[in-house]
Amino acid sequence: MGEIFSALYGNKATKKRLGAAIVGGTLPHAFLISGPEGSGKLTLAKEISAALNCERTGSDSALPCHRCNSCRRIAEEGFTDVKILRKPKDKATIGVGEVRYFREDMFLSATESDKRIYIITDADKMTPNAQNALLKVIEEPPLGVYIMLLSASDDAILTTIKSRTQHIAMERFDEEELASYLGRTGERDRELLMSADGCIGRAKELFSDGGEDTRAARRTSDAVLSAIKPSVPYSELYTAIKELPTKKDELIQALEMLTVALRDLMLMKHDKSAPLLYFTARERAGELAAAMTAKRLNAIYDVIRSTVDELMKNVNVTAVVTSLGARIKLI
Ligand SMILES: [Zn+2]
Repeated sequence: MGEIFSALYGNKATKKRLGAAIVGGTLPHAFLISGPEGSGKLTLAKEISAALNCERTGSDSALPCHRCNSCRRIAEEGFTDVKILRKPKDKATIGVGEVRYFREDMFLSATESDKRIYIITDADKMTPNAQNALLKVIEEPPLGVYIMLLSASDDAILTTIKSRTQHIAMERFDEEELASYLGRTGERDRELLMSADGCIGRAKELFSDGGEDTRAARRTSDAVLSAIKPSVPYSELYTAIKELPTKKDELIQALEMLTVALRDLMLMKHDKSAPLLYFTARERAGELAAAMTAKRLNAIYDVIRSTVDELMKNVNVTAVVTSLGARIKLI
């Protein structure tokens, strides 16, 4: 067999196992693919879809070939029999209605291929009702139908779904692997690589624009971190919060970074040598952790998490930012 799933970096064992199953015709019909955002879940799902539909078959050709008409259209999401359900941007969850509609489609006849793939990219955002609506079809999918659930957090997936799907965990990479993959080996690149959380896709995104966006987001979140110590006057926190990005996507990115930083600080409280994801300087993390109680850190973490949730629901950015400061002040 030629090279398997070459669009996906790493994940050697998974590739080998799935490649053999595709060639042998023993590929399971329902998958749960887990890993954080940017870990390659959708890339893998598309590679499997393309391999199942690739027009060039032969023991020496790569699987998929990435060159035939089917492969190209699957990569561009223009192939009628590979369907993708995503969480609507203005909603926090995927509801039962969307899933039922998707499920109904599985029983219609194929338009171009006898292998039809249904991908749900934010499977962990499905409500329990929506997940239940999938149970039967996952257990007995219509002929030629493959279902792939992509999940960033398996805690939100029902056990009944987990037990009926083949589980694939995406590989995480250490900083050195990410650095050499991206050709980013400078000292200045280290803090960005840490924020990538072991994910190639995230790392690429962080370095798009030369990494300047991410560095700017880090500067604003650093300022907030310095100002949340109880000894610092509220006016400083107010100023730091006002400096946060005003564009929603950038604001969410900065707040997500803050939650990662707070998670570091909470870990530091228990274990001084815990691996850190946000702080490159362990001393600074230690100093911040020592300045706050675990209770305070937890409460601030919750406020920021719920602020991110509100922003996802399309709440007015200015209103959210104003209440963020007020809510932290009350802690
Ligand atoms: Zn092909």
